[in-house]
Amino acid sequence: MSENTPVISLQNVDLYYETKRGLFKPPIRVGAALGINLDVHKGEVLAIVGESGCGKTTLGNVIIGMLKPTAGKLLFNGKDVYSMGKSAYREFRNSVQLVQQDSYAALNPVKTLRHSLCGPLLHKKLAKNNADAVKQVYEALDMVGINHEELDKYPHELSGGQRQRILMARAILMRPKLIVADEPVSMIDVSLRISILNLMAKLNKTLDIAFVYITHDFGTARYIARDGNITIMYLGKMVEYGNVQKVLEHPSHPYLQALLTAVPVPDPIIAKKKRELPLKSVDMPSVAAPPSGCRFHPRCPYATEICSQEEPQLKPFKDGKCACHLADQIPAWSLRRDKAGAEE
Ligand code: SF4
Repeated sequence: MSENTPVISLQNVDLYYETKRGLFKPPIRVGAALGINLDVHKGEVLAIVGESGCGKTTLGNVIIGMLKPTAGKLLFNGKDVYSMGKSAYREFRNSVQLVQQDSYAALNPVKTLRHSLCGPLLHKKLAKNNADAVKQVYEALDMVGINHEELDKYPHELSGGQRQRILMARAILMRPKLIVADEPVSMIDVSLRISILNLMAKLNKTLDIAFVYITHDFGTARYIARDGNITIMYLGKMVEYGNVQKVLEHPSHPYLQALLTAVPVPDPIIAKKKRELPLKSVDMPSVAAPPSGCRFHPRCPYATEICSQEEPQLKPFKDGKCACHLADQIPAWSLRRDKAGAEE
């Protein structure tokens, strides 16, 4: 394995769900994530952003090995997860951890935190004995800013922010290389969100843990990913990918431009002059019956004939990648004052 080998690599991954329609009808295949090619390197932060039903959580579950791709490969340190031996697979499962949105559901309500945190360490033989497990848990609690006294409490006795920190502690106890954080701040008070984001940034910096941050919120994606990457998903497909700052300042895909147009901007000059991008329809098509060609074409204000006929591929464009037939013809759009768009 070379220095540049990604921790996780998805190669041409498709994930279909089958939904039953009764005894005598064949099931429908729904493509929840299609044609995904994505690498996450050591210490990288990647934000996956999209609306509900775009496939971002499905993608997160593929990355942690909870959902096996229908086609394509999931590689961990360059090795195919689904053809590796038992001990390598165990290493993968420990190295790639999930922090869920609903911290209450993620913790066993009838067990104390001591049990929930020490148990996996002993079960996975990551601690020599009970005393060693408690020592490791104390260190993890120090790292996430939770008092040791909280260890004998039950999940319902903690606040949402504390529970989310406990989930982070549980994840880092497994000595992960990558944490998939699926909307980790969407169910906690706004005032506590920043502390959880800062905790993730600290774990990323001090422990060099890579993060895949799944969200629908551009503000937190930009905050946590900083100099990392972002990918935008629409109806199961990646439509744009690149450095988070560059992509959000100069979005290329009309779908991302439309989403950013809808986000309030604190700068009054930009807000006043921000380019309008009226969609042809506000309704999101069903992922079970996606439109032909470009999946965004029924809503896209720039759509032409080719858009409904041919599916655009995610191709290198400017500093990143974009899946749009007309990417080089679409007017520039910017959130910066000094560039085209805001001050035109
Ligand atoms: Fe719009 Fe066509 Fe580009 Fe799709 S391919 S985003 S419909 S211009």
